[in-house]
Amino acid sequence: MKQCDLLVIGGGSGGVRAARLAAETGARVILAEKNALGGTCVNVGCVPKKLFMYASSFGEETAAAAGFGWKSAAPGKLDWDALRDNKNREIARLNETYARILQNAGVETVPEAARICGAREAEIGGEKIRAEKILVASGAAPARPPLPGAEFGVLSDDMFFLPKLPRRAAVIGGGYIALEFAGILSGLGVETTLCHRADLPLRGFDEDLRAHLAAETAKRGINIRAGIAPSGIEKANGALRICFEDGGALDADLALLATGRKPALSEIGLENAGAQTNARGFLETDEDYRVKGCENIYAVGDVLQTPALTPVATAEAGVFVARVFGGDKTAAVDYAHIPTAVFSRPQIGTVGIGESAAEKKGVRVKIYKSEFTAMKRGFAGQPWRTLMKLVADEKDGRILGAHLVGEDAGEIIQGFAVALRLGATKADFDSTVGVHPTSAEEFVSMRG
Ligand code: NDP
Repeated sequence: MKQCDLLVIGGGSGGVRAARLAAETGARVILAEKNALGGTCVNVGCVPKKLFMYASSFGEETAAAAGFGWKSAAPGKLDWDALRDNKNREIARLNETYARILQNAGVETVPEAARICGAREAEIGGEKIRAEKILVASGAAPARPPLPGAEFGVLSDDMFFLPKLPRRAAVIGGGYIALEFAGILSGLGVETTLCHRADLPLRGFDEDLRAHLAAETAKRGINIRAGIAPSGIEKANGALRICFEDGGALDADLALLATGRKPALSEIGLENAGAQTNARGFLETDEDYRVKGCENIYAVGDVLQTPALTPVATAEAGVFVARVFGGDKTAAVDYAHIPTAVFSRPQIGTVGIGESAAEKKGVRVKIYKSEFTAMKRGFAGQPWRTLMKLVADEKDGRILGAHLVGEDAGEIIQGFAVALRLGATKADFDSTVGVHPTSAEEFVSMRG
């Protein structure tokens, strides 16, 4: 029987990093991935989404160009096939890069599904493997909501391979994926309606940020139907009719069901190793990322109930290898300061906690807010508003949360995440010299 020190199930961000780092310690590592290497992030998530987001931004950029004196700037007509096929080529290049990284590290990659058969035994493509340790890094997949006619809708994975762009799209959901695809579709010229059941999108984010995003999203030409829940999807006259619980309906040519994701664990054979999921279907682990109740089964990434973000999965993979394969036994992921960006139109960047979350924890906070039109947009006649907000602990001025809705939010928030991790106070922000003229400087210029 083939033997290894570590079997990694899943070749996404977490699995690939764990496999590579473990192999670099001298461990014999096998990685099983039935689909393309790189997982959700590379194939049907972060990377192609960002390429599509770039594609969707040219309309507003060329509209801005007129204000800057350009006479014939026009986005022209989008060639969807070219965009999709160029994206496919780029992703194929990344798949090869991942394969090379694993090969160079000495990892054996098997392009098959793996199934756990016992505490130290698995089967890959009909072959039995004995593994001293098994890491479950099989990620998550978009889930179809239990609605009549849900099969007529598409999931986010499908969006990357559409044969053609629809004329009208309904995006159901108010989370990351719904906001990002609403921005992409509308930017690519599709008549887009975002339908979410809460009053504001992005439940769990700072309330001001949510309200500001909703208002600015509408200014970009995205229709928003807030506070409505879907009751079903029907086919009508060659199109789709999305019906809502309040009796209303919306006709569209495509319905994107962006209503959440579920851990991909059903085919792993976890039950054969005594591993159990929690009530929401996630695995739970100890600080070494060892699955509760198991001796040698570990898990990282979207199969856990930690934030479903690529850098979180890679950080967890690094900690797993450090703790289990002879590195720093005290390594840990700082879950309190995870910055995140939503690549909506406009973008969101955020780190730390929001105002109401701080208050729920019983912290008395001081709020600093600034709203303005960025120089470029004001000059171009696009009166869009940027929002920046700091949540500070009233007691010692420590910044607990930094929130931003506006251009380049993802780029701006990264550096502020370092400051928050280091415990920066409002006084530290105030004494930091700004970079002028930028939007980011507003974060160090706000007065209470
Ligand atoms: P989210 O959990 O972010 O959002 C799901 C949305 O679907 C919520 O608005 C929820 O509404 C709504 N919903 C759930 N069930 C129903 C239903 N039956 N009918 C109507 N609405 C429903 O999930 P996503 O799939 O958008 O994203 C999953 C995760 O992936 C994110 O949390 C994030 O961690 C990650 N991600 C990160 C990105 C980034 O870093 N830029 C990009 C994309 C994804 P309600 O709030 O009312 O429950």
